[in-house]
Amino acid sequence: MKRTVEKILHGSPFHMVGDGFRVRNYFPNGNLLGRRFSPFFLLDYHPPFDYPALHEGAPKRGVGVHPHRGFETVTLALEGSVAHHDSAGNSGTIGPGEVQWMTAARGVLHKEYHEEEFSRSGGSFHMLQLWVNLPAAHKMDPPSYQALSRDLIANVPIANGNVRVIAGEYRGVNGPARTFTPMAMYLVTLDAGATFDASLPASWNTGVLVTDGLAQLLGKENAQPQDFVLYANDGEDLRITAKSDVRLVLLSGEPINEPIAHHGPFLMNTQEELDQAFEDFKAGRFGELNDN
Ligand code: MN
Repeated sequence: MKRTVEKILHGSPFHMVGDGFRVRNYFPNGNLLGRRFSPFFLLDYHPPFDYPALHEGAPKRGVGVHPHRGFETVTLALEGSVAHHDSAGNSGTIGPGEVQWMTAARGVLHKEYHEEEFSRSGGSFHMLQLWVNLPAAHKMDPPSYQALSRDLIANVPIANGNVRVIAGEYRGVNGPARTFTPMAMYLVTLDAGATFDASLPASWNTGVLVTDGLAQLLGKENAQPQDFVLYANDGEDLRITAKSDVRLVLLSGEPINEPIAHHGPFLMNTQEELDQAFEDFKAGRFGELNDN
């Protein structure tokens, strides 16, 4: 049974996250609220943008120290390079095709910056960040961090293209991400004329962000760069045909059927838990991280 397209989101106007991330928000920001796209809660997409070189000693571009609790931040770099440090002692740098999968769970402070060498040379920067909700049973787990480098991310060749499996399974090949609920995340590259087929449970919320090229969906509808295609939950199978060279990110996951309470950097189940998160943050219970 083929999935139909429910709607195509074009994202918010551009805004800056800190001074280093020029993004459109696709959800929640008025779209796919609550559990409609659970377990995925937020998507910020930074299409290619050229940053000028920074001289040595200039302040870093990015977002300074801030907290998170109750979910995971997943950052995928497509061009350029991002650095991360957190109060659990984890840090890392990712480049094109790599992923930082940061499980905030009961809470971390972290900072996110353009990597130093990239900042100094400047150039095209292209990335996305996704917030993945955690089930209530794991919201207060210890924080953790997965650096998913290129050599770890599984590559499944298909005719005139390839599927990089970051999370979940594609054609029997498993991606490296450890997730708390069943989901899939693929980075798909297609030459013009190639066809990508995927089959995922109809109950899993599924969407595709087109980052490059023109993608033909079911029927005659096309999606172009910066379009996010939300699929209906009416079938398992989706097919995309590349009208030009195409790159896209597919997200699919089993919904977490629990209440959602959200404010700023906290994503919990109840207002009381949000209040507790603020109290713990103010009291310094998220640990320490310097802003240098
Ligand atoms: Mn953050």
